Amino acid sequence: MSETAHRYYRPSSAAPISGIITMFTVGSLAAAVLAVIYGLVAYFNPLVYFTFIAAAIFGAGVGMAIQYGTRIGRVRNRKVVIGVSFVIAAVAVYLCWVAYVSLVIQMNANAEDKAAIGLVVTNPVAVAALIQFFAENPLWEMRGSKPSASGLYTIWAIEALIIGGVVLLTGVGACIPFCEACNRWTEPEEVAAKIPLENAADFSQALEGEQYSKLLGLRSGTVNPLDCVHLTAYACPLCEEADHLTAVRKTTSTNDKGEEETQEQTVFENMIVPHSVVQGLATLPAEAPAEEVVLSSEETVPPKADVDVEEPPAV
Ligand SMILES: [Zn+2]
Repeated sequence: MSETAHRYYRPSSAAPISGIITMFTVGSLAAAVLAVIYGLVAYFNPLVYFTFIAAAIFGAGVGMAIQYGTRIGRVRNRKVVIGVSFVIAAVAVYLCWVAYVSLVIQMNANAEDKAAIGLVVTNPVAVAALIQFFAENPLWEMRGSKPSASGLYTIWAIEALIIGGVVLLTGVGACIPFCEACNRWTEPEEVAAKIPLENAADFSQALEGEQYSKLLGLRSGTVNPLDCVHLTAYACPLCEEADHLTAVRKTTSTNDKGEEETQEQTVFENMIVPHSVVQGLATLPAEAPAEEVVLSSEETVPPKADVDVEEPPAV
């Protein structure tokens, strides 16, 4: 691996302060807005399982906001991205409790206590004391009996782990190559050409060894559309100096319920390739044609066949 490590994209350590602030702002804003919705779901929904699903959706929403912040803030340093995601994950869990506690006070307390709502929820010690109070005085029943404090703490711990874990996983996201020369992210484009599974290893080796003349030969062979290697090119839209290729094996199978399931397995990620190779691969058709003639006749089919669809009569 170390011998060929230079053949793969390595993110720079760049993490502009403005970018980190953007990540925190976007992530915390999303966490605050979604925490209110999540608090409502947690308060009114009687099913614990549904709360767990809502926790995952909440975490994914906050994680996507972090990804967005990373992107517009141009933060390339992966350690910084992980660190910021971790802090926002903790903030998200805390804000859920703030939203929940506010709602409980709003729904149950007298006017005097409601007036103090702002003081309570902005004080972490008060929030922690209320969580303890809720554990000892459960607000809801499960199958006719009040849950125990330890049971509640377990549920809340799982909830926090789901939220925090999903925020981290989604927030850190995939490593997208960045063009340092143009100061912008590369853009992904799916390559139509697929690689037969039996040639995947040779294809990776040829790319790693910069033996690009071998690539075309490795594309021939039968491509099984249900189990083959898909390529995605990540290229800078402004220059020809930041081209990368990612290969993923996609296996589609039918499960017991008759539904199609696709499993993905990364073959290689962000391999550095010359612009001409990406361009060459992009011009190849989806399958290696047995006869070029058949392909060219297919491509000359007029694109607009039935455009003149009659408009439905106005009622
Ligand atoms: Zn560029």
